[in-house]
Amino acid sequence: MESWQQSLRAAITSPQQLADRFAIDPRPLEAVCVRYPLRITPYYAGLIREVGDPIWRQCVPDPAERDDAGLPTDPLAEEAHSPVPALVHRYPDRGLLLAGNSCAGYCRFCTRKRRIGRPEFNISFTELQQGIATIAATPQIRDVLISGGDPLLLNDAMLQELLGRLRAIPHVEIIRIGSRIPVVLPERVTPSLCRILRQHPPLYLNTHFNHPRELTEQSWQACARLAEAGVVLGNQTVLLRGVNDDLETLLELNRNLLQMRVRPYYLHQMDLTAGTGHFRVRVEKGRELVAGLRGRITGMGIPQYVIDLPGGKGKVPVNGDYVETWGDELVLRAPDGTKVVYRQT
Ligand SMILES: *Cc1c(COP(=O)(O)O)cnc(C)c1O
Ligand code: SF4
Repeated sequence: MESWQQSLRAAITSPQQLADRFAIDPRPLEAVCVRYPLRITPYYAGLIREVGDPIWRQCVPDPAERDDAGLPTDPLAEEAHSPVPALVHRYPDRGLLLAGNSCAGYCRFCTRKRRIGRPEFNISFTELQQGIATIAATPQIRDVLISGGDPLLLNDAMLQELLGRLRAIPHVEIIRIGSRIPVVLPERVTPSLCRILRQHPPLYLNTHFNHPRELTEQSWQACARLAEAGVVLGNQTVLLRGVNDDLETLLELNRNLLQMRVRPYYLHQMDLTAGTGHFRVRVEKGRELVAGLRGRITGMGIPQYVIDLPGGKGKVPVNGDYVETWGDELVLRAPDGTKVVYRQT
């Protein structure tokens, strides 16, 4: 067995393990884990300096997750936009292929909390093949985004097969992978994985660093190996209360990403997903932060601040071109001309 698989097996998956290590009361966390699973890799757990710090907040269950606050579990209506279980097709030119259902670590703020890590939402090999067949039968899809779950948890042989099949579809121009592996399980980026990725250009990989403390020697090396394999690297950050909702943190994060050859792509306003309300930052604050970056870092280091419209209407930038009314009830203009409300309270 490869060592990354051993790391995964050594992950923290129960509140009791957290209690043994950090001297906390595990009981309030147990009720959370019944609904939303817990998994923290040994590497990522090693980045925690103290209870409640920005690393902790991202990976340790919080009793606040049990408060749905009347929010939906699938605000982007992904299930409604799935012609087959492994494919979400919301934009005519882009297909989102769900490669699996597990991640190396479960982020507490995940927008797909409803399904991630839950066996009943597993994607079978047959469903994956169905997803690929649907893409092959849909010539408008030029851009395939493989996400999940984390696609890099597939073993090398499966990834080789998957990428090979997608590459063989003439109308698929680019393949993109969404993965948090460089952040939580950098040892997965093995030379053998890189040999596979190298064979399928143009290949883009958007990863998911949220805090400068996640940029370590190991994650740096993982990104370097990917870049050397010809993979074009980008980063999607989620704006998170108590993690990265201040200017100095965002500046340091984006500056250091550029040094790692990772280009900041999106800063996401949090989706209105049940169980994530305690992370939400107001849009006005988000705008102020992004405006604060301007002038202090190259434009290459400024991610686009976007909001994924409720109901699955797609992502739009948070600015005057798309926001018609500011306030607790943000009225946004969707690309198809309809109006969509994003309730901040
Ligand atoms: C975000 C997303 C994409 C890709 O969007 P880009 O803005 O092109 O990065 C594609 N499909 C779905 C369903 C998405 O949510
Ligand atoms: S890696 Fe992505 S899909 Fe997986 S739990 Fe984190 S945010 Fe969700």
